[in-house]
Amino acid sequence: MAFSGKHPTCTLLLLLSLSLLSLHTLLHRPLPSPASAFLSSASNSTLSAYLRRLTLRPHLAGTPLSLPSALLVHSHFLSLGLPSQITNFSALLSFPSLSSLSAHFPNSSSAALLLHDGGAADAAVVPPYHAYSPSGSAYGAAVFLNYGRERDYAALAARGVEVAGCVALVRRGMGMSRHEAVANAAARGVAAVLMFTEGGVREGVERGTVMRGVGDPLSPGWAGGERLGVDDPRVAGRFPAIPSMPVSESAAEGILATLDRERMPSEWRESFQSGERRFWGVGPGPTMLNFTYKGEQVMSTIHNVFAVIKGSEEADRYVLLGNHRDAWTYGAVDPNSGTAALLDIARRFALLLRSGWRPRRTIVLCSWDAEEFGMIGSTEWVEQNLLNLGSKAVAYFNVDCAVQGPGLFVSATPQLDDLLVEVLKQVKDPDSENAYVYEQWAAANRGVKQKIQRLSRVDSDFAPFLQHAGIASVDLYFGLDFPVYHTAFDSYDWMVNFGDPLFHRHVTVTGIWGLVALRLADDPILPFNYLSYAAELQEYKNALNALVGESISLDPLAAAIEDFTTAAYEADGEIKKLKVDENTNRLTLLRRRSLNDRLMLTERGFLDPEGLPGREWFKHLIYGAGGDSESKIEFFPGVSDGISGKRKGGDEEAKIRHEIWRVSRAIQRAASALRGGLTSKW
Ligand SMILES: [Zn+2]
Repeated sequence: MAFSGKHPTCTLLLLLSLSLLSLHTLLHRPLPSPASAFLSSASNSTLSAYLRRLTLRPHLAGTPLSLPSALLVHSHFLSLGLPSQITNFSALLSFPSLSSLSAHFPNSSSAALLLHDGGAADAAVVPPYHAYSPSGSAYGAAVFLNYGRERDYAALAARGVEVAGCVALVRRGMGMSRHEAVANAAARGVAAVLMFTEGGVREGVERGTVMRGVGDPLSPGWAGGERLGVDDPRVAGRFPAIPSMPVSESAAEGILATLDRERMPSEWRESFQSGERRFWGVGPGPTMLNFTYKGEQVMSTIHNVFAVIKGSEEADRYVLLGNHRDAWTYGAVDPNSGTAALLDIARRFALLLRSGWRPRRTIVLCSWDAEEFGMIGSTEWVEQNLLNLGSKAVAYFNVDCAVQGPGLFVSATPQLDDLLVEVLKQVKDPDSENAYVYEQWAAANRGVKQKIQRLSRVDSDFAPFLQHAGIASVDLYFGLDFPVYHTAFDSYDWMVNFGDPLFHRHVTVTGIWGLVALRLADDPILPFNYLSYAAELQEYKNALNALVGESISLDPLAAAIEDFTTAAYEADGEIKKLKVDENTNRLTLLRRRSLNDRLMLTERGFLDPEGLPGREWFKHLIYGAGGDSESKIEFFPGVSDGISGKRKGGDEEAKIRHEIWRVSRAIQRAASALRGGLTSKW
């Protein structure tokens, strides 16, 4: 009943009860919630100090400086009173021993080209190289392949350019992985590949891995113990057949400017980020390149570091927060802006623990090693713990390059969308006064249908958790791209001068990471909403409709999504009813556990034991990279393969049909997992 306030007795009663109420609140001031206590313990100077310590020396996985960085994180956790452990693995890593490159120009001058980042590095910084490149030498005419895509070779072929036997220049971009660019070149008889990155620090050289897939190449799908031989086709097939090497943009331009004979396609010329218009030729020649790379593959010890905050009520349910620690160089952005945030989360959770808080579920902080070689530390650990993670992991929240610059980017599996949006509305924006990060993020994405991106990329440690183990996942960072990526210039100084001078973006990342973790760990009912997953699947079906045409029926997919949507509505109703019943103190403990288990396990339904065609380790049929980066869709990777095969003129209809059936069955499995009942009714 609404109170009008006109009746004098009512007014008196109201005043009396209001003053009693305020007296009551004064006497029993509620403890600050863990969320607000967590937010109020933020400290940008602490984050800055952590980052400074983490980035004093380079700490590439498998090198002598890697263990001190693991011990730094381990002792930090221990000093806070958090149980911590270092878990080691042996894995095949790859290091350079020698490289040289010289150019012989048409005017018969020649030059040895610089193969390190001009000036920035101390001797402990690894010279630029491509991990897992085979050793080899090549002498050949220089040729430019643009990004090395199918269409780029087609454009060259149309101009009569022969690339076989050449030493090729390739620019990074268009979603092409290093492996794909080099493998495409090898398939066309190119002798060696030099790769450069546009828009970075001009003298910087971007290191990186050219291994296909993730994890230790000698133990694909399991964690150590049995090892394949390096000549086993399952191992050798993951490395390119020809040597490659990264070079600086300025070195690449020095070569490009001397190529002539064939005219460069105008769209290539116009798309140079430097606005450079002096490149007219693609070669081959007349400049000749003489290239040698010698590297070694070494069994190395890698160190994952963990801290655990044990759950008080459901110790056997895990909320995992992860970040890799290994860096190509000093790693101030990649990945130690995230590591600084992880250390700060530990500090602030330790403060909460001292004030009496205990999470309901267990929180695990994970500091991974050897991510840069191909997510090796996280992958081995996920493989080692597959069954227990599969049955007990609630979610995985990854933060890699936490701060690259301004602007928030969030990716997640869709059942976490609502939770993320709620948290973004509670954390202050780092770059505007009195605004929450949600407002800026929503404004920056105005008109973008899907503000939260999905996790089909295979570029950080969420890949094993989501794409192999089917665990609901989040990935988050500030800034899109940064000019010192994988170069010796990725240092604390760069962060202070350009990336985040006041460390406010670090504070915001830490706030979001911590609040999401608190909700996942403490909410009695898991904050998962599968209606957004259902809506997202429906969008994918509509997009697919436009791509595959009339001849391929999407009926099984439509039926599966309809069933999934019904299950999502049922779960939503069940969550609401359970909340009411919990308020009226009915016996709800087992009901809640059963519901939470179903909310947790639904994501696993999207896994298929056979995995994706040609890359069976990737089990998730909704999210994962397409077999080639030119595929147009960023969901249903198996279907995506068929569609790009069809575009290349293959007869792929049967394959596409089969993949659509497989996706449909996966969605049905997820719907069944959400309902939790058997299909037989009795
Ligand atoms: Zn990284």
